[in-house]
Amino acid sequence: MNRIDLHTHSCCSDGSCTPTELVELAAAAGVGAIALTDHDTVAGIPEFLEAGRRHPEVETVPGVELSTMFSNRELHMVGLFIDPETPVLTAFLEEMREGRRRRNEQIRLKLNALGFPVTWDDPAFAGADSDSASIGRPHFARALMHKYGFPTMQSVFDRLLKRGCAAYVPRELPDPARAIEVIHAAGGIAVWAHPVYRERNERAWAKRIMRRFSPLGLDAVEGYYSMFGPQETALVLELAGLYHLAVSGGSDFHGANSPNIQLGSGAGGLLVPPELLNGLKARCVARRAAVDKPGLP
Ligand code: AMP
Ligand code: MN
Ligand code: MN
Ligand code: MN
Repeated sequence: MNRIDLHTHSCCSDGSCTPTELVELAAAAGVGAIALTDHDTVAGIPEFLEAGRRHPEVETVPGVELSTMFSNRELHMVGLFIDPETPVLTAFLEEMREGRRRRNEQIRLKLNALGFPVTWDDPAFAGADSDSASIGRPHFARALMHKYGFPTMQSVFDRLLKRGCAAYVPRELPDPARAIEVIHAAGGIAVWAHPVYRERNERAWAKRIMRRFSPLGLDAVEGYYSMFGPQETALVLELAGLYHLAVSGGSDFHGANSPNIQLGSGAGGLLVPPELLNGLKARCVARRAAVDKPGLP
C-alpha cells in the first residue's frame, strides 16, 4: 500500500461517482484504503463495503462528514469506522437532511426571485425525493450551470451560492461537540476536516479549536488534504502533536463535481501516508472501549 484516501464523496451526496466506482478508482490508482465520507448520509455504505469485498486489495472504511458551526464558522467533522446502522447516528442524519430539505426550498425560492428558476425534476436533483438523499448547494450549482450556461460549478457558487451571495441560505448547524458525540456513539472516531486553508494564516484558529475540542473527544485532524502545501501539513502535524491528536488525510474527491481533484492524489501533490491508519485504528479501539461498543475497526 503506497497511499490512502480517507475523505471522498459519492453520488449519495455531492459526488458524481457511485460508491462502487470509488472503490474501482481506488484499486486502479493503487490506493490501499479509502473512506466514503458523504455529507449527512450513510446511504452509500452498504454498496461501498460490498465493492470492497470484490477488491480485497482496497480496505474500505465506512465514514460520514458532518457540518457543524462554532464561533460563526462552519467546521466539518469526518467520522471514520462508523457503524452506519447505529440508531443515534441515523436519527441525527435524518434531522440534518430534514434541515437541508427546508433550506433547499428556500434556495429554490430565492433563485426564482433572482431570475434563475430551477425545478426539482432537473436531472441535477435526480433521487432528491428519496429520504436518504443528501442534496446541497453543489446540486444547485450543477443545475444552474447546465440551464443558464455558467462555465463551471465554481462560477455559480461565486455568483449566487457562496456565503454573502444573493441565493445563499445558511443552514442551522449543530455544535461540534454534538457531532463528536454522535460519531462516538456509532463506534467511530471524529476527525476535524480541512482545519486550515492555504494561504491564510490560521494558526490561532486551529489552536483554539484543537485546544477546546480535544478534551471534548476530538480524535484526529486532517493533516494531508488536496489544498494543502507543505506548510499547512507541517502546521497541522505540529498542532496535532501539541494536543495529542491522531492525523488523518484525504482528497475530498467529488468526481466531476470538483474536476481538479483526483482520488488519492488530490491536485497532484497529495500523498497520505498509509501508516496513519494504525494511529487512527488505535484511537478507534480506545473509543469503542469507552462507549461499550467493542470490536475492531
Ligand atoms: P452545502 O453542504 O449544501 O452547504 O454545500 C457545501 C458543499 O459545497 C461543500 O461540501 C463543497 O463540496 C461545496 N462548496 C462549498 N463552498 C464552495 C465554494 N465556495 N465553491 C465551490 N464549492 C463549494
Ligand atoms: Mn461536498
Ligand atoms: Mn468539508
Ligand atoms: Mn468533504
